[in-house]
Amino acid sequence: MQLLDGKKVAEKILQEVQNDIATMEVKPGLAVILIGDDPASQVYVNRKHKTCQKVGMYSEVIRKNANVTQEEVLVLIEDLNQRKDIHGILVQLPLPKHLDEEVILRAVDENKDVDGFHLINTGKLFRGQDALTPCTPTGVIRLLKEYDINMQGANAVVIGRSNIVGKPMAHLLLGQNATVTICHSKTKDIEKFCQKADIVVAAVGIAQLVKASWIKPGACIVDVGINRLNDGKLVGDVDFEDCKTKAGYLTPVPGGVGPLTIAVLLQNTVKACKKIT
Ligand code: NAD
Repeated sequence: MQLLDGKKVAEKILQEVQNDIATMEVKPGLAVILIGDDPASQVYVNRKHKTCQKVGMYSEVIRKNANVTQEEVLVLIEDLNQRKDIHGILVQLPLPKHLDEEVILRAVDENKDVDGFHLINTGKLFRGQDALTPCTPTGVIRLLKEYDINMQGANAVVIGRSNIVGKPMAHLLLGQNATVTICHSKTKDIEKFCQKADIVVAAVGIAQLVKASWIKPGACIVDVGINRLNDGKLVGDVDFEDCKTKAGYLTPVPGGVGPLTIAVLLQNTVKACKKIT
């Protein structure tokens, strides 16, 4: 089994971003809006900010109390939409319940939508047009390319249908000419679909769901899941120990898909900056 080293590929992407920035006349700028005090969100946002600093990208974190009004958030986004020094805007999810996520995500200028969650970018992805695409699934495609995993004509199963990972993942694989099946919480006999798959991408949020008996020998298994066990250990949606002798390629957790997400976010910000300026 070959480990798919997401950390290494993420470093390569960040090096490309750094090289790009060095040659750009306008320095790309990323604004992250963080609402409330969700501890995981704080960690993610700090990590994004630090990575920006490392590669020479301008980064601004705008923190708002959990009781901020929807109107205030929309005014803030409009201000960032207008700013010439900001080329990427990210609203850290999840949002407090009183805020309408759909309305807020739609308020971001689609050309600065570096998370790829705006309806226009979602529609472009659906129609196979060039777009800012969601970071995690975009990172998965890059990882597969780096390891020369054949996607054209491959049977790919995506487990999970969220707007953040599962659905865009399926469309990106389709864009690579894979034959894609989406499995979800209501799918019967998921293992039967997985057993025929050359590529499985698990994005569920259930610890160690995917077992060796689910997968085809030699298959490429990508684990997007991040789950914490009671003993504090971080595991994915794939039972790594069980699958490691049967899979052909497998991502570890941590160190697999996780590091790619931030790297692609910065790559998207460079892309947005080049398009806007
Ligand atoms: P989500 O909760 O929005 O979606 C989970 C999906 O799994 C749903 O579409 C649901 O239909 C499906 N599902 C639920 N139970 C199932 C079951 N028993 N069998 C099959 N499918 C089932 O989650 P998400 O935002 O898509 O995230 C999924 C996982 O990926 C989580 O563990 C999350 O922490 C992780 N994640 C990682 C990164 C990263 O950077 N590595 C980024 C985003 C999400």
